[in-house]
Amino acid sequence: MIQHGNGILVEVDGRKFRFDPRRVNQDDTCMISHAHTDHLPTSFRGSSVVCSQITRDFVKLRRNKEVQIVDDEHVRQLEAGHIAGSQMFLVEGEKKVLYTGDFCTREKEHTKAAMPHKCDVLIMEATYGKPHYVFPDHAEMMAVVKDWLNDIMRADGIAVLYAYPLGKSQELSAYLRDFPLLLHGAIAENNRLLRAHGMTLSDVEYDQHLAIPPFVYITSGLGRDLARVESLKKKGAKTAAFSGWALDRDFVSVSRANEAFPVSDHCGFDELVEFARRCDPEAVFTTHGFAKELANHLRRNLGIQAQPLVARQRTLDHFC
Ligand SMILES: [Zn+2]
Ligand SMILES: [Zn+2]
Repeated sequence: MIQHGNGILVEVDGRKFRFDPRRVNQDDTCMISHAHTDHLPTSFRGSSVVCSQITRDFVKLRRNKEVQIVDDEHVRQLEAGHIAGSQMFLVEGEKKVLYTGDFCTREKEHTKAAMPHKCDVLIMEATYGKPHYVFPDHAEMMAVVKDWLNDIMRADGIAVLYAYPLGKSQELSAYLRDFPLLLHGAIAENNRLLRAHGMTLSDVEYDQHLAIPPFVYITSGLGRDLARVESLKKKGAKTAAFSGWALDRDFVSVSRANEAFPVSDHCGFDELVEFARRCDPEAVFTTHGFAKELANHLRRNLGIQAQPLVARQRTLDHFC
């Protein structure tokens, strides 16, 4: 039985397993795939969860809640390759159920690649589940970014990089570690948490005294930081956005950046399809983004029983 409501509930061998629940309870095995806020619980009626140590520390930072990591003999944590500490979960009983959470099969500077795993039921994200979302080779794309930045640095300029504070900001921090980096406070805070886990990341916050060109400023570019970014632009700063949506034709104008680089922490369409094929499941459930489109494609082209998982819909008792 698979149910979408308080996270995704799966029953295996009469036990209840909950992936990315909104509310953690004591009765079910609750698993948190990673620390993006749309996956973090908002309330806790229990404090035992299955997650990585990094995710546990982000729960404390973002939800101000101490949770204990529990081992469950039926649950294996696998690298999801999405952001630092992100995990996929393999629940093993009479059937094997793999939940990907958000995942990425491209190796990046600060995360390893997610690997497919043979399972009976695959529950996968479909953020970029449409054929035109095919990402370029990650290392090649980052080399292009480096060239672009080197030109700006040689001219004693300023570069402002718009990146999500948890995920791409760490990838840029890691990959560009030899550049004069300044970070938005929220990004520096995340990096500090990850340094405690042994990652080599800058935690130098933007400060007017340090902001002497050439330098690279990493920020979400949103909210209260807009004013700072505007003033840097007046000083000639060049801006770049980092997002998978940069594959959309109108993204540059929407992002209002000088450059847009299609760098993502998710699988592209081709990688989603290949992952599903190699997991060789009896059934696939898709969630997030283009769930319907991906499920249709898997059904028609791979002959896999696939369907989007819609909130509160009960489905497919006969598969697990
Ligand atoms: Zn995520
Ligand atoms: Zn997500």
